[in-house]
Amino acid sequence: MYEMHAEPIPGQDGLVWHVISKETRASALCGRPLAPPASPAPPKGEAAEERYCSSCMTAVGSAVERNLRRPTTT
Ligand SMILES: [Zn+2]
Repeated sequence: MYEMHAEPIPGQDGLVWHVISKETRASALCGRPLAPPASPAPPKGEAAEERYCSSCMTAVGSAVERNLRRPTTT
């Protein structure tokens, strides 16, 4: 299973959504180390731009593809 994780964009006012897996919570799928949970991004209302990490999206896409191809044992 995967979870979305928002990180502040360095030098910009906005957030980028990375994907983390349950197994590797220390870093995102793209390899980006995650900020410690002690410093969450403060809510800034509707002004902040949000985008998705393309590397994480690609990683999720290939992982889902592998799962679809894997024969089920049930
Ligand atoms: Zn990422």
